[in-house]
Amino acid sequence: MNSNNQQRGHLSVADAQAEVLRHADRRTVETVTLERALGRVLVEDIRSNRDQPPYDVSAMDGFAVRAADLATAPTALTVIEDIQAGDMPKQTVGAGQCARIMTGAPVPRGADAVIRVEDTRPLADGRIEFQKSVKTGNDIRKLGESLRNGQTVLTAGSEVTPGVIGVLATVKAAQMAVFGRPSVAILATGNELEALDEPLDPYKIPNSNSYALMGQVQALGIEPTLLGIARDDPEELARYLRRGLDHEHFDVLLVSGGSSVGVHDHVRPTLEALGVTMRFWRVEMRPGHPVAFGTTVDGGLVFGLPGNPVSSMVCFEQFVLPALRQMMGHRRLFRRTVEARLAHPVKIRPGRTEFVRVVLERDAHGYVARSTGTQSSGVLLSMAVADGLLVVPGASEGFAEGDVAAVQLLDGTTFQNDAGFEGRL
Ligand code: AMP
Ligand code: MG
Repeated sequence: MNSNNQQRGHLSVADAQAEVLRHADRRTVETVTLERALGRVLVEDIRSNRDQPPYDVSAMDGFAVRAADLATAPTALTVIEDIQAGDMPKQTVGAGQCARIMTGAPVPRGADAVIRVEDTRPLADGRIEFQKSVKTGNDIRKLGESLRNGQTVLTAGSEVTPGVIGVLATVKAAQMAVFGRPSVAILATGNELEALDEPLDPYKIPNSNSYALMGQVQALGIEPTLLGIARDDPEELARYLRRGLDHEHFDVLLVSGGSSVGVHDHVRPTLEALGVTMRFWRVEMRPGHPVAFGTTVDGGLVFGLPGNPVSSMVCFEQFVLPALRQMMGHRRLFRRTVEARLAHPVKIRPGRTEFVRVVLERDAHGYVARSTGTQSSGVLLSMAVADGLLVVPGASEGFAEGDVAAVQLLDGTTFQNDAGFEGRL
């Protein structure tokens, strides 16, 4: 971004994302137990406090042998001991001998390989016959093969997944430092809005944005606070905004509606009057052009999201989601993108990055994307049934049927470390 003019009028999605991420740096640290750690991000490296396995163990149910004894197969060996998982072997395996051994049991002294039971046959005299010769080390898990005492097993910034929880339990990390979750407030604005608990008035517009945004925030593991609906009146709006900007309570304020340039769109001037520095208020995207972003002196973030229900959700995906993930300590900030073939042509008016709601199916060649139908930014159902957002670069006029393009997935819990599309003008 090289001029103020660019900030105001012609900011690309990519530049707007970078601007948001530059300011999304408020982070807290807390301690959680392993039971509550799923989805959190580790603040510190985690080291192993033990060797795992703690000794050479068998990887199979079978027999511990001396590989040299089997050089001339078939061979019969005498069983000197039975070793179960949890047992310590009492004897050393000598020439012509073997030990019956279970998976996870320590390999006895003298033995240097394990033969699985399926490759053996008991003889009438009690000895065991081995059909084939074997390489030293066969089916033995070596001491420290999965973890070494003192080794860094997880690095700071790792997300706690079910696999990570298993590793943490292995090294007996019953509690650990993780990044806190930012607190988020959501405010709807508009005289025309009807609250969820108000009786149905056919001439009003139901406040859906507060709830769709709530769901988007909850999907990231954060429980937001709904501040209600402010009327399009500067004083009432200021009262509500002041609550949302209170840094003791909230790190991030999402304001729905009132950010465009109509005479009753008071959000931007009121935020400025309350001391918010506006960083941008338009992005070259469709839907979502009138999206605003500002910061408070305490490092709080304010997003002015467009009132149109689809625009509100699309802007959340592009700007709010990466900001919240960064504040939660994640390294992967963006929704996963996949390449998909288009089932039909997609035409756009060039100039703005366009996000088209699509349904994805798979065929033998990969993903196929199909529009959910009308792309009007007021039609929320098109968002409700969408699997993803097809990204159409603003520099293009769209795509032909069969073209391959990036689709940002809306569902799922997987994220990636860059936006996965150009988003440039
Ligand atoms: P605005 O951004 O305030 O100009 O609103 C643009 C459009 O979005 C208008 O048609 C509004 O009625 C609609 N809208 C604004 N806020 C909400 C909301 N909270 N829920 C549903 N629709 C809304
Ligand atoms: Mg409005």
